Amino acid sequence: MTTTAPAPYTGVEPTPEWFDEVRSLATARNATLLAHNYQLPAIQDVADHVGDSLALSRIASEAETDEIIFCGVHFMAETAKILSPDKRVLIPDARAGCSLADSITADDLRAWKAEYPDAVVVSYVNTTAEVKGLTDICCTSSNAVEVVASIDPDRMVLFLPDQFLGAHVKRVTGRENMQIWAGECHVHAGINGDELTARAQAHPDAELFVHPECGCATSALYLAGEGFVPEEKVKILSTGGMLDAARQTGAREVLVATEVGMLHQLRRAAPDVDFQAVNDRASCPYMKMITPAALLRCLREGRDEVLVAPDVAERARASVERMIAIGTPAGGE
Ligand code: SF4
Repeated sequence: MTTTAPAPYTGVEPTPEWFDEVRSLATARNATLLAHNYQLPAIQDVADHVGDSLALSRIASEAETDEIIFCGVHFMAETAKILSPDKRVLIPDARAGCSLADSITADDLRAWKAEYPDAVVVSYVNTTAEVKGLTDICCTSSNAVEVVASIDPDRMVLFLPDQFLGAHVKRVTGRENMQIWAGECHVHAGINGDELTARAQAHPDAELFVHPECGCATSALYLAGEGFVPEEKVKILSTGGMLDAARQTGAREVLVATEVGMLHQLRRAAPDVDFQAVNDRASCPYMKMITPAALLRCLREGRDEVLVAPDVAERARASVERMIAIGTPAGGE
């Protein structure tokens, strides 16, 4: 599946002058600048904190500034607003969406819940505020296993929207009473087993870091089981977990199966290791809409503000706060 993202704001280069202007405008606005691991390298470098979505959600809720500027996609900025209703939350380009979040609507979820009225709903954080408002506990890839393991084993679990993360959680927890929504991220789904096998065979000494939202996670475990890739070389990790593993690895070469923006943080964390993308086309066009031009426009003009209706925010906040209470943050800030 291909996805067409709107054309981003362009025309500004990330020069040292740009960097200085961004920093001084952020200070003048009393804003905290957050950047997701999949952002462009210049955006990561200018931010106050870089991390995965769980780590950034926690930082947003604890920040003492008047404003949060969220360099990421729209649902992430919505989550920051849900947790910090009194702060002004801005995203440099409100058109930066997410094909995974779009794979389930609030109406879809209402209909699914009606089929399983006693089930506990677990939503990966890549969902709209409305879907979070219909959710019992949110999760990220860092704590999805712990969230599902915390639920009464006799209750049915409805897990959404990422089918690959759901399959990973089901495998690790061994839970049978779990239904999984058939959603996917087109970027992660584009990293497939064939590509992984070819890359692993071409680099027999390399370790493999695989993000559980990748379509290749199942293949990586299968290949390990069949002896194609030594089992100890395959690591299924959240984005935050990848950074910890990067600092500790003894390998000289690591193949990385996730969005390519992650390579920047990994190379910074372990400059002596050769990190290579399994698929260097795995780049999220929505994440890359937060350009140097978009960030400057945001800081100069105070746009785009992210708003969530108070009743929706209140219901969504309960599910997000349960998420934050479970698991350890694995962000790379
Ligand atoms: S990489 Fe996939 S899941 Fe992440 S924001 Fe982009 S479309 Fe959504």
